Amino acid sequence: MKWYQSDVDIVEQKLQVTTKRGLSEKQVEKRRKQFGPNTLESEKKTSKWLIFLKQFQDFMVLVLLAATLIAGLLGEYVDAIAIMVIVLVNGFLGFFQEQKAENSLAKLKEMSAPVANVMRDGRWEKVPSSEVVVGDVVRVKSGDRIPADIRITKSNGLETEESALTGESLPVAKHASAITRDALDPQDQVNMGFMGTLATRGSGVGIVVATGMDTVMGQIASLMVNTKKTTTPLEHKLAELGKILIVIALLLTALVVVVGVYQGHPIYNMFLAGVSLAVAAIPEGLPAIVTVALSLGVQRMIRKKALVRKLSAVETLGCASVICSDKTGTMTENQMTVKEVFINGKNLYVTGDGYDVQGNYFLNDKKLDPDYPNLESMLLYGAICNNAALQVKQGKYLVDGDPTDGALLVAARKIGISPQRHENFKIVKEFPFDSDRKRMSMVVEDENNLRFLITKGAPDVLLPRSTFFLDENGRKMLRTEDKDKIDDAINGMAQKALRTIAVAMRPISKDTELNAAILERDLTFIGLCGLMDPPRKEVKAAITECRQAGIKTVMITGDHVKTARAIAQNLDLLPEDGLVLDGQQLNQMSVSELEEIIDQVYVFARVTPEHKLKIVKAFQEKGHIVAMTGDGVNDAPAIKASDIGISMGRSGTDVTKEASSLVLMDDNFATIKAAINEGRNIYENIRKFIRYLLASNVGEILVMLFAMVLALPLPLVPVQILWVNLVTDGLPAMALGLDQPEEDVMRRGPRNPREGVFARGLGFKIISRGIIIGVVTIIAFMLTYQGNPDNLVYGQTIAFTTLVMAQLIHVFDCRSENSVFARNPFENMYLVLAVISSLLLLLVVIYWEPLQPIFHTTFLGVRDWMLILVLSSLPTVLFGFTKK
Ligand code: ADP
Ligand code: MG
Repeated sequence: MKWYQSDVDIVEQKLQVTTKRGLSEKQVEKRRKQFGPNTLESEKKTSKWLIFLKQFQDFMVLVLLAATLIAGLLGEYVDAIAIMVIVLVNGFLGFFQEQKAENSLAKLKEMSAPVANVMRDGRWEKVPSSEVVVGDVVRVKSGDRIPADIRITKSNGLETEESALTGESLPVAKHASAITRDALDPQDQVNMGFMGTLATRGSGVGIVVATGMDTVMGQIASLMVNTKKTTTPLEHKLAELGKILIVIALLLTALVVVVGVYQGHPIYNMFLAGVSLAVAAIPEGLPAIVTVALSLGVQRMIRKKALVRKLSAVETLGCASVICSDKTGTMTENQMTVKEVFINGKNLYVTGDGYDVQGNYFLNDKKLDPDYPNLESMLLYGAICNNAALQVKQGKYLVDGDPTDGALLVAARKIGISPQRHENFKIVKEFPFDSDRKRMSMVVEDENNLRFLITKGAPDVLLPRSTFFLDENGRKMLRTEDKDKIDDAINGMAQKALRTIAVAMRPISKDTELNAAILERDLTFIGLCGLMDPPRKEVKAAITECRQAGIKTVMITGDHVKTARAIAQNLDLLPEDGLVLDGQQLNQMSVSELEEIIDQVYVFARVTPEHKLKIVKAFQEKGHIVAMTGDGVNDAPAIKASDIGISMGRSGTDVTKEASSLVLMDDNFATIKAAINEGRNIYENIRKFIRYLLASNVGEILVMLFAMVLALPLPLVPVQILWVNLVTDGLPAMALGLDQPEEDVMRRGPRNPREGVFARGLGFKIISRGIIIGVVTIIAFMLTYQGNPDNLVYGQTIAFTTLVMAQLIHVFDCRSENSVFARNPFENMYLVLAVISSLLLLLVVIYWEPLQPIFHTTFLGVRDWMLILVLSSLPTVLFGFTKK
């Protein structure tokens, strides 16, 4: 017998589990051992050896190795071995960098792995989907990806979309009863949920019957092709740039060699020098450093609770000019409390904080009894037509489920309605809440078998569906003047920034068809609840900071226009002349009409997720780079269409997470600001080390070129060139990637996404600094060499030291777009340490006798150092003041 043919109790028996308690931890452990993790076997990893060997596949490195081999054969053992060692060390560094980047990406993947909601030992828990075992009782709701193959045991209007499996994109309604027919295809097994498919509506519970490769998905997983590793736009741009730089470096090197040979240098010497120069000048490590900088930045973001799912988002973040953010839960705490009630034409006040069940109802400062007319039935209905549960943990009340529902449970408890009271009602049918309908209904039967419908939802949605209302004397026809009175009450609550919910009911007979369109009409309006959802405390400052950074914040909510406006004003989000648009106005506008006014709009209220797409498009048409948040299933298209899709780590659904490039682990708006800040910083840091590396390379090539043109001997020998490439270009450049932001990064406007690598004066900075580094080095060499023409090693040591020192000083200049002297050089301790260790290595190479013949160096005295320091600080002193 197949699972879909078995009744739920048979499934429970076979798998030794009950849906009430789930598995015990012991059972779980045993089954995990037996069946293994619930994962699809993924692709094989590239071996470490291959990654290591890859470091040497670079063409110029191969040429260098060949040249070294020739040098070795010609008897230049010392040079040959020194070069070999340097190349090897360089390879190791590249290897470690790549490993680091790889590992942090793997960790990232792990962190964004899906979680499942399982019942274990009688409690609902969240566990990584990979830890789900056969027999686990799992709960899914709209937006979730189903973690394993499950036999559905309970369905509240659960629908799933199984196109990943069946190719069919229409949702399938799921139910819990057994199917007798045999040999059904997956799409006909409507009491089963399959791993990897999506719940699109409603919610449900099921028992896991297969995990990992045993699932239907597992059986076809082997057919799936591996996804290729993608590069970010910046990595791509740099790879392109790298190719151009290689050509330039090769041409210049060739020029150096040709001029050198023309001036009478031996060909063999010039060849080895040329190849070393080419290896040093080609920024082959650039893409790798960029990846490392990106992934280190990503780790910093994680510490700030922003999880990047796509590396490319890091770059785009720095370009964001508009943030469209959900209000509820992102700008606010999503911690709802009923503060006011409107019933019998009167406003009641409710005391108590948060979800604590202590509190009372007051009318004109008089505490009310539980038998105040209609109050109890309204609150009871609100608690029945409800999917949340109250839990007590360490003496504190928590809500499991929707906070709005939770607030209504608390409100009911405050007049003494116990959970048993509402759990006694039999639920016949549920029409779940979603942001399109803005309401939720349940068909229930009471103790006397009387059937009725309870609807709760946005008051402006329920009021037009109501024909009657309740007051102290019972049910009455709802006339226009009664409606006006209720409208006034709605506006009054909304202006106080309260979220409004109406409760209505309708008695129905047992033969009425269970169809929302038929049932949710002719309602009897009972009353209103006004819920407070306090703004998160960091949000106001974050919005202000964004404004200073040239980023506009836009609030999006399903709430009432007035509620939204009041909260927006509290948060300083809405300027005097700012517009608030609602869903209806949006419906009447085309994208281009919306585009005309969108720069004035700050709040979109009473919108549905579908509107978000229109909003994104209009902003993009206006040339904005849009960040858009979302949590529900229907938010996914807008998130995908935006430039930076943002989902919620806690309340978000799997679908939105998958569509997003950034996950807010704390659901907090302020985290978006932190991520943008970090995104800008990372990009600036990448600019910093590009500037440093290329200016250094220009300097290195020019020293050699100048010397050849001036008919001087080689100012640097090949090992020295390679040493510079390894030491100065290595650690200090990496440390720049970890630099602190300049003070004004969040006071500049967003970056233009189309700007090139050398934009904003970077090209000029590189060339001007590069030239002067080359000039001071050649001057140092000439001054020394001309005084001691027979001691070439002396001149070379001076040139080598001047070049290294000039770079180590210049690295501090690279930290700033403005004046270096405005920045504290000790702020970036990594950089200070990198520079100190480079310095030490320099001293070792100069002063440690055994190394002197290898690196062609000799002792330097105090006067030498004075010359070196004066010359090498010139590039930074001359240019350090200017912005150019
Ligand atoms: P938001 O974008 O602020 O989260 P929603 O789309 O969730 O807005 O809610 C819109 C309106 O729907 C709310 O103002 C409220 O009136 C109503 N509403 C919200 N949650 C529920 C619920 N669980 N049951 C019934 N009505 C709800
Ligand atoms: Mg909501």
